Amino acid sequence: MKALFKGVHPPGFKDLSGDQVITPLPVCDGDEFYLALNQHIGVPCVPIVKKGQAVLKGDPIAEPSGNFSAALHSPVDGEVTGVGRCDYPIYGSADAVIIKAGAQQNNYSKVEGFTDISECALKGGIVGMGGAMFPSHIKLAPQDPVDTVIINGAECEPYLTCDYRLMIERADELAEAVNLIKKHIGATRAVIGVEANKPEAIAALRKVAGDIEVLELPTVYPQGGEKQLILSTTGRVVPEGKLPASVGVLVHNVGTALAIRDAYIDGMPLIHRVVTVTGDVVKPMNVLAPLGTPVRRLIEFAGGVKGEFKKLIFGGPMTGISVHSLDIPVYKGMNGLVAVCTDEAAKVRPCIRCGKCIKVCPMNLSPVMLEKLALRKKHAELAEYRLMSCIECGACNYICPSARPLKNLFRLEKTDNAQAVEKVKSAVIDLTSNFPLYKA
Ligand code: SF4
Ligand code: SF4
Repeated sequence: MKALFKGVHPPGFKDLSGDQVITPLPVCDGDEFYLALNQHIGVPCVPIVKKGQAVLKGDPIAEPSGNFSAALHSPVDGEVTGVGRCDYPIYGSADAVIIKAGAQQNNYSKVEGFTDISECALKGGIVGMGGAMFPSHIKLAPQDPVDTVIINGAECEPYLTCDYRLMIERADELAEAVNLIKKHIGATRAVIGVEANKPEAIAALRKVAGDIEVLELPTVYPQGGEKQLILSTTGRVVPEGKLPASVGVLVHNVGTALAIRDAYIDGMPLIHRVVTVTGDVVKPMNVLAPLGTPVRRLIEFAGGVKGEFKKLIFGGPMTGISVHSLDIPVYKGMNGLVAVCTDEAAKVRPCIRCGKCIKVCPMNLSPVMLEKLALRKKHAELAEYRLMSCIECGACNYICPSARPLKNLFRLEKTDNAQAVEKVKSAVIDLTSNFPLYKA
């Protein structure tokens, strides 16, 4: 099968953690958990607990603020020690409910009182776990008729193997999740799209798939981009500015589909997630971590780093972000931690007009022109050159021989935040971030 869009072929580095079975992170008496209130796109949720209050694992601790929001639940049995601030990526810090774990950890309190999967996802605090953190209950109540459910098992981002392990270790439950979602939506077709470089996952899923199609997709980045996946699996093109439902499609990531299943069948709210801890750690692994765990504990669980810490990337090197603190807690959209101990910062050089960024952009944009316009604050022209169609995949960054920090600039420019754009311009060296890893 030939890729239907442009893209790049970065090295995968998946062998580091791909064979490591998902391992739960132990919870110890007195461990603190920081549950940020903005672990989703939309309006932050509102705390409903007070300092000193005892909570059980799975108890609601914050409720959604309107429909475009998501609930939060305690990941442990323990006591609320306050509602304060925690370190957080991008924003620097965020409001959070802080919980101290007790000595005894029991089973979780169940999600109850829902009439369908969408309401269950709302009550269970489920959001997109592939990184987008879009509230799932909204996706599960589409405005347009949907005939196809697609599960995104591409996991095209280098280093990450959390979805890969889930597809192998929970294949039957994933199939159960797909059938539940398909029935709820009234779809006639269900597809799990997996890149060809994951034959074990494809084989595990095909054994249990029944009517679900398990499609082997070309290994090309960004195969897991929502629009690219829809094109590869259905041939449909999502129009600019529209959602997948506009072409009759609903897409969920592997982890999200399983979280929906876990809430609906087992009553489990979203209180933990699988995080790939990899890169320059002693024992790369896939960790089932309670939400709110400071990432420092995950790095320690993986044996620490092999050398001097230079950088920690949340997510993978293509779309992830370098973070400033090991106290940032695990949040719902965090799929990986890549520790970097080598000091290979690429120097940003002037654009040489090679056109490589244009050749690889999967959205058929001209990154070189977008950069030029963004740096000159030509907002009207940026719209003409379709800045808002940029999916922030980083393929242009990866291929650029001058290490231009294109994606980061576009990401901030899309927020229409002039101050933020100034910030990125003055910190271009830092924001070249993740790509030197490939430039050896
Ligand atoms: S311009 Fe945007 S969509 Fe195109 S390659 Fe760069 S980051 Fe990806
Ligand atoms: S790949 Fe880099 S150097 Fe080449 S045209 Fe694009 S921005 Fe310029």
